[in-house]
Amino acid sequence: MFRTTVRQFIQKEFAPQQARWRQQHGPDADAWTRAGGAGILLTDVPDAYGGGGGGTFAYEAVVLEELARAGVHFGSSIQSIVAHYILAYATEEQKHHWLPRMARGELVGAIAMSEPAAGSDLQGIQTTARRDGQCYVINGSKTFVTNGSHASIICLAVKTDPKVAGLKGLSLIIVETKDLPGYRVGGSLDKIGMHAQDTCELFFDDVRVPAANLLGPTEGKGFSQMMERLPYERLTVGVTAVATAERAVAITTKYVKERTAFGKPLLEFQNTRFKLAECKTEAHIGRVFLDSCIERFIAGQLDDVTAAMAKYWLTDCQCRLVDECLQLHGGYGYMMEYPIGRMWADSRVQRIYAGTNEIMKELISWSL
Ligand SMILES: Cc1cc2nc3c(=O)[nH]c(=O)nc-3n(C[C@H](O)[C@H](O)[C@H](O)COP(=O)(O)OP(=O)(O)OC[C@H]3O[C@@H](n4cnc5c(N)ncnc54)[C@H](O)[C@@H]3O)c2cc1C
Repeated sequence: MFRTTVRQFIQKEFAPQQARWRQQHGPDADAWTRAGGAGILLTDVPDAYGGGGGGTFAYEAVVLEELARAGVHFGSSIQSIVAHYILAYATEEQKHHWLPRMARGELVGAIAMSEPAAGSDLQGIQTTARRDGQCYVINGSKTFVTNGSHASIICLAVKTDPKVAGLKGLSLIIVETKDLPGYRVGGSLDKIGMHAQDTCELFFDDVRVPAANLLGPTEGKGFSQMMERLPYERLTVGVTAVATAERAVAITTKYVKERTAFGKPLLEFQNTRFKLAECKTEAHIGRVFLDSCIERFIAGQLDDVTAAMAKYWLTDCQCRLVDECLQLHGGYGYMMEYPIGRMWADSRVQRIYAGTNEIMKELISWSL
């Protein structure tokens, strides 16, 4: 029932807007409150905090699958990721203060970790938060921030103790951006895909936030908090990967039945059938692995290593399949008006963000 509701909402409200969202490099501002009204935000956050109260990640997976199925890019998973940082590390009062507004789409979440000198290696983070009485004073900049232009609540990675070398001086601070002096959003970054999502630079110039916004209980917990929460993010990426791969196989199967060459449908060439048979098999293997990860996550048993395996393998699989499917479309596959062409460009980043696939292999290798 939930899937049907989500599908209808996305088909009616978001799918028809995609071309425009791509042109304007982001969703309409009111898309967030509409999504909140439809109950597709924070679906796995307890209803005591305004969430869906469904209670499990399965609901999030349904939303992500339906977005991918409709070819819609909308950063609801980032909204959930921010909510889960708050759920895990904020005070009770803060949870009641922020989460219900996030569930309604009145606050839009973003995660701001990456900086020009800090991507895979978060030791390079140079944004600082200096304690000054009851406030932190933040200086620095972030890049590649998804949901950046609409973001009104940011989970920000900062150095609270620049004297401490490495990752121990990192902390996470929640920043509410509305009318915040010293806070500035850069223009939308010019990406090769994912055009319907706003990805921006953010600038902080003596920005003051209440000291209580530190995700605590004490400074210096940022890196361990990120490590605890990243499996959730990696699983969301895996869900999109599998749903996209499945969609690629479905639309390509339809295409090769309709398109003819040498007097017969493309599907009648053995190469076409074998390639699609391989793709369908790999998508199925991905689905079985993903579903196992989701079950384990819901049972509280998804370890970091398996989450890293899922992120790396499923996104590699997605890119491989989408590329094969594009090939079967011939020149039309290279045209942006065909969904497979857009999927090809959009898929590529899945191997890069949420920790590159090389970093995933490092994580996995530590368990050897
Ligand atoms: C569209 C998009 C959206 C994004 N959204 C967000 C967001 O919302 N919030 C956010 O904070 N960030 C976001 N990012 C940033 C993303 O997480 C980083 O780009 C990613 O972590 C890689 O960092 P980097 O770009 O600095 O690459 P680098 O770290 O410079 O890596 C370059 C290459 O070196 C490899 N490499 C690095 N270290 C190692 C190693 N130890 N072993 C082997 N290989 C290594 C990498 O795998 C990669 O191939 C986004 C990026 C994009 C493109």
